[in-house]
Amino acid sequence: MTVAEGLRAPMSADDRELAGRVAIVTGGASGMGLATAHALARRGATVAVFDLAVPDRAELASLLAVPADRVRCVKVDVTDGEHLARAFTALVEEQARLDVLVNAAGIAPPTAFDDITEDEWSRVFAVNVDGAFLCSQRALPAMRAGGWGRIVNFSSTAGKTISTAGGAHYTAAKHAVLGLTRHLAKACGPDGITVNAVCPGLIDTPMARGLLSDEVLERATRTFPVSRVGQAWEVAELVAFLASDRAAYITGAAVDINGGDLIV
Ligand code: NAD
Repeated sequence: MTVAEGLRAPMSADDRELAGRVAIVTGGASGMGLATAHALARRGATVAVFDLAVPDRAELASLLAVPADRVRCVKVDVTDGEHLARAFTALVEEQARLDVLVNAAGIAPPTAFDDITEDEWSRVFAVNVDGAFLCSQRALPAMRAGGWGRIVNFSSTAGKTISTAGGAHYTAAKHAVLGLTRHLAKACGPDGITVNAVCPGLIDTPMARGLLSDEVLERATRTFPVSRVGQAWEVAELVAFLASDRAAYITGAAVDINGGDLIV
């Protein structure tokens, strides 16, 4: 390769770079999952939102500003492996492919350590970790068949240090998401599939607003180098990049997006 050839990306950051691709976004009915669904759809992907509660198809299409034939709404609990298997099979049979999986579904109860019950501990792991495991396992055959795939898992700054608002189970679960991401990246690289995690800091979503008052959120972010709360679309843009051809050489990464709250 000449020096000039090495400077030139073989693809461009155009608005339609995911045209023809099919994506599943878990937790895609709210917050960063919804913003990610929007970012992927805007780049041309057909997007299936997998969530506990989903809008109807026309409503989602209008939210994502794309025709209804480019969205699917699947009501499913990401901890239910059998239901997930049926939902993945149905989508892959219909679309004849699956290219992108974004595991954004998550819960973050703020329970103090001494008060966490075994059931709550298990539920937090089930949604945040088992959900990503179960969905990835069900997505991989179709990605391998296509020789191309992108998995993006939602960890958190909590996955690198400790959570601001969530409990110890949330912190531990988001650390586990990074372990899953790294192991899977190593296993899937030869199949043309990259696996990465995003580690958002404090982002303005229903989850964050449910955990922290406006005042606490403002106070917590005031000392950040970028001294404000992050926006869901900012994280979605990062996820969309990781889901693109341009990110083909990034795998096993845990990418921070936190306004400089954690600089490592
Ligand atoms: P959100 O509450 O707005 O959205 C989460 C979505 O996940 C909801 O639509 C919810 O219905 C869905 N969900 C929850 N349990 C589910 C289940 N069992 N099956 C299917 N769907 C389920 O939250 P958000 O802030 O957009 O969070 C998105 C991801 O980012 C989560 O994994 C969260 O832990 C993580 N995160 C959030 C922040 C933040 O500041 N908001 C920071 C770091 C990481």
